[in-house]
Amino acid sequence: MSSRTSAIFTLASVTVLGGLVAYAVYFDYKRRNDTEFRKQLKKDRKRVTKQTAQTQEPSDGATIEELRAALARVRSEDVPASAEAKEQYFMAQVGMGEQLCAQGPMFHMPAALSFYRALRVYPSPVELIAIYQSTVPPPVFKIVMELTNLDVSTPSSPPERSARTHSEASEEDETSPVRTGPPSETSSQEWDRLTDPGSQTPAVKARVEGYYEAFPPKSMNVSVLPAPSDPTKVRKVLVVTRNFEAGDVIYKEQPVVAVLDADLQGKEAYCSHCLRHIQKGMAIRPDQDRLGSVYCSKDCQVKAKVESQNLLFGLEPVLPAELDKGMSLLTRPQRDAAQAKYAAHLKSGGRSVPLLAARFVAKQVVIETAKMMPVKTGPLADELTAASASEYSLYDHLERLRFVEGKANEEGTSLLCDVLGAALPGLEKSLTEERHAVYQGKMAYNAIGVCYSGGRDDKPTPTERPEDQEHTRTPYGTSRQIGSGLYLVSSYIAHSCDPSARPSFSSGTSELTLIATRPLKEGDEITMAYVDISQHTEETPVEARRRRRVELARGWRFKCECSRCVSETADGHESDVGIEKDESKVEEVVTRVETGSGAETFLQDPA
Ligand SMILES: [Zn+2]
Ligand SMILES: [Zn+2]
Repeated sequence: MSSRTSAIFTLASVTVLGGLVAYAVYFDYKRRNDTEFRKQLKKDRKRVTKQTAQTQEPSDGATIEELRAALARVRSEDVPASAEAKEQYFMAQVGMGEQLCAQGPMFHMPAALSFYRALRVYPSPVELIAIYQSTVPPPVFKIVMELTNLDVSTPSSPPERSARTHSEASEEDETSPVRTGPPSETSSQEWDRLTDPGSQTPAVKARVEGYYEAFPPKSMNVSVLPAPSDPTKVRKVLVVTRNFEAGDVIYKEQPVVAVLDADLQGKEAYCSHCLRHIQKGMAIRPDQDRLGSVYCSKDCQVKAKVESQNLLFGLEPVLPAELDKGMSLLTRPQRDAAQAKYAAHLKSGGRSVPLLAARFVAKQVVIETAKMMPVKTGPLADELTAASASEYSLYDHLERLRFVEGKANEEGTSLLCDVLGAALPGLEKSLTEERHAVYQGKMAYNAIGVCYSGGRDDKPTPTERPEDQEHTRTPYGTSRQIGSGLYLVSSYIAHSCDPSARPSFSSGTSELTLIATRPLKEGDEITMAYVDISQHTEETPVEARRRRRVELARGWRFKCECSRCVSETADGHESDVGIEKDESKVEEVVTRVETGSGAETFLQDPA
């Protein structure tokens, strides 16, 4: 390692320690939020690999000529002009670098180039180098440093295109002794503000704060607000934004994902996509569907296929033909085998939550992939238009949902990862066991049972212990549902044993219609019953109260403190439900952002 490189190291190690923590928070936040980004990388990877094909093989032992050629190429590229575009570019390059690193030694050079590109637009390259040092695999880091070294020692023609990697190495950089300036002088103030470790970037901040402005859409007549009872403001409730009479429809909502109960799957009685009842003999049954899915219409069949069925259980390319270029044929046998195993695993489990989570993951991938395509047509066109118009991705929505900690399941995760990775190599890395458990915990906590025309009474009696059974938010009782779905807006409705609204599936599909059960004034909270709160004929009032409270404790891990439960306690009916506090929670990153508790770390001066 040259003396200059060592000098950078020394400098880096003393200046960055404070900033490192702040940036780790920032990276963590961005990484979690920018799924669109991460998906884009999958696409870009191929392009980058092609571009850098000639410098691919040497990884560890890249020759000086190769490094020079690579450096010249990077230098000839334009860097984005606006602060926003630079931030995007920066994040894209870092993300791509991370992805490429994971692809093995063949990709070390392109990975290093991505990290190097990010370095070019970063105002505090020294800090960034130290971050790389602790996060980037050593062989890749070595190439980044070699490029840096080469760049610092090679004068470049247009100054605004040069990578300023070290303030002392840049003669004209006398204005700032600590930091190098932005690559282009025009937006220096803006860029400083954008990347000043002393503040969240305006883009990130506005995005976080604007979420509950943009969501739910105004047309739904509801808002998500902090619960008055929660001083931290992290718990959210749903309130109406105008007055309603009892019996009024407050809104209608389609599920993001829905699944038919396992015992009904393949029975030809209900559509596997919209959960509509199908008249005898009218079901469309696709050839070789691994789950035995049937559909009420061609439309549902196509939608299901595009949203998740092809990625999870089909063999058609996931990327559009111009990107796929026949690549998917190579992994076809592997994909086939992975899907067969995963389908068998799901069937043997007989549970809804794993499939809901898998469909959610698949839909995210599909939407994020499609967003990058210029033309938005086909069965997902409406959702894609909405997704493009909104800066929030499915991940943003999911991230904010409350959940109960789910059990990590190594087998389930690895089988799903195999399916994802065989469909789109690299995708498997986006799902860890912990993430998967969180996804499943969110499905379990928020799923609402679909139940129309009074529901069914032929659901097989569950064989699991009561505490292991799946519970959905179903006022008729989970045993009467035909399937379940994740409804993003309705997920914010809290439970009450004296609810102000009820979900209805009067369209005979998974579309949820929320109906007011009493007059509601603007600003009133919407509540619904998660369980059957009626008193059954054979039950005493005390038994009925206990049944619903035990069910709530099992399904959602809380002890109901609603007005009805409290007033009935006053009558002397207190009984233990085996739980004292509410064990549901939100993800740490959400708490941190919403309470500002990460702010001290985030806002701290790295000096
Ligand atoms: Zn259908
Ligand atoms: Zn209650």
